[in-house]
Amino acid sequence: MIIFGTKASNIGSFDVPKSKCEYCELESTQRISVFGKYAHIFWIPIFPTSKKAIAECTHCKRTIEQKDFSDKLIQLYQENKSKAKRPFWHWLGLGIIGSLIALITIIGITAEEDPRSMMLNNDLSMMSSSPTMESDSISFKIKQIFDQVVTEEINPSNFEYLTKIQGNKALILVKMPKLKKVEKSGRSEALEMIEMITNNQQDLNDKEKYIGVQGAISMMLIKTPTYEKNSKLALTRELYEFYGTKDEFKK
Ligand SMILES: [Zn+2]
Repeated sequence: MIIFGTKASNIGSFDVPKSKCEYCELESTQRISVFGKYAHIFWIPIFPTSKKAIAECTHCKRTIEQKDFSDKLIQLYQENKSKAKRPFWHWLGLGIIGSLIALITIIGITAEEDPRSMMLNNDLSMMSSSPTMESDSISFKIKQIFDQVVTEEINPSNFEYLTKIQGNKALILVKMPKLKKVEKSGRSEALEMIEMITNNQQDLNDKEKYIGVQGAISMMLIKTPTYEKNSKLALTRELYEFYGTKDEFKK
């Protein structure tokens, strides 16, 4: 079984009028067809290699291979062959491989195991839909207010909460599975409300606040002392500062 090799496809043709055919000896039109060769693996084109040309007499239909071209045909072919452009798919394999490498590199950079990402995920998994005054008084108060003001459509009973105080920092996490349904201005209001509630908490008076509101999948609202975002692409890592600076976690 051939798993790699080269194949060729026609990538362009042009006519050379009034060129003498060696077979029928008529001054007829010669059609030069350019074939682009490409390397393939399992018939998937990987990258282009050379070009070759074949001339066909439009009168007698005899074909001449490039090695048998007359000087005139060679000259005309050289002048015109740049018009025969490679289709993008001749690069398909290299393109895919390149994209994969780029993707892996990007993933590698972003996922370069930041231990704080695990800590945040851990905290996100500890969120509760029924915080109590004893277990988490701040979440309890946020929930009390959200339960009153949020419309049933957004289903506040499904919200989850967690707050954490560590040194001079506070992490306030809220999960609203239907947050996507809320329009952007409404989401900003939700964030403002959390801020207002937490600003009124004595425990949090002098704390730097790291607020994250998660939708069904991703973090959509984030506010930290240095970052604020209301978008489906809010950068979760902006919350990592709560756990400490990156340098503190480097060994
Ligand atoms: Zn001919």
